[in-house]
Amino acid sequence: MLLKISNLAKRYDTGTDHVSVLRDVSFEMAKSETLALEGESGSGKSTLLHLVAGLDGVSSGSIVVASAEITQFSDRQSAELRRKTVGLIFQQFNLIPSLTVQSNIAFHARVAEQYDAEWAEYLAEKIGLRDHLAKYPEALSGGQQQRVAIARSLAARPKLLLADEPTGNLDETTADAVLGLMLESAAETGTALLMVTHSPRLAARMQRRLTLSQGAVTEGSTAS
Ligand code: ADP
Ligand code: MG
Repeated sequence: MLLKISNLAKRYDTGTDHVSVLRDVSFEMAKSETLALEGESGSGKSTLLHLVAGLDGVSSGSIVVASAEITQFSDRQSAELRRKTVGLIFQQFNLIPSLTVQSNIAFHARVAEQYDAEWAEYLAEKIGLRDHLAKYPEALSGGQQQRVAIARSLAARPKLLLADEPTGNLDETTADAVLGLMLESAAETGTALLMVTHSPRLAARMQRRLTLSQGAVTEGSTAS
């Protein structure tokens, strides 16, 4: 099992306010599996992804990623997890504006000491960026920028890619194409994909669907 989440709970305490966002979340993901995470706005999808990436601490429960219990990780270990094991893609592309497309793709893999020029070049070609490598992000369309973000994540060969509404800013046709490229490229690296999406159409292209509601997940889609 690549990911095993057991009885996970997350509560936000702000002053006198307590919000139990995740109450009892348990599920597993196998290596290379693709999973859509659906649920209403505010149901805790982003919170769940942040916890799996070690960006925030859990209230209780367990998260095991690639055989490591990450809930007890130090900040340093969490940073290492994000460099070596878990990739992240957000709705806003978070590219580095002062770097070319080529350098943006290489950047994360270099930091992770996983840089492989041949692999990066192959990914850029595969994801349709070969003619744009010398450009800066501002010269690209939204769909192209998100493809750079995908290539950047996969260049480091993460075991698990977490994507939070990665195509939320793209039109339908572009979103379909970008997801297709992401699925194909992830399959080639054996990368598992956990993707938050509001689109039943995109969710249907994943192997499994989970719905988050009232702090717990259920297998399948109740959204559509
Ligand atoms: P989703 O991604 O499904 O829309 P989120 O995980 O962003 O949901 O948010 C779930 C709930 O947790 C919301 O009610 C949100 O207001 C609350 N929340 C998220 N982050 C924080 C935080 N840092 N402090 C307090 N409340 C938060
Ligand atoms: Mg969210």
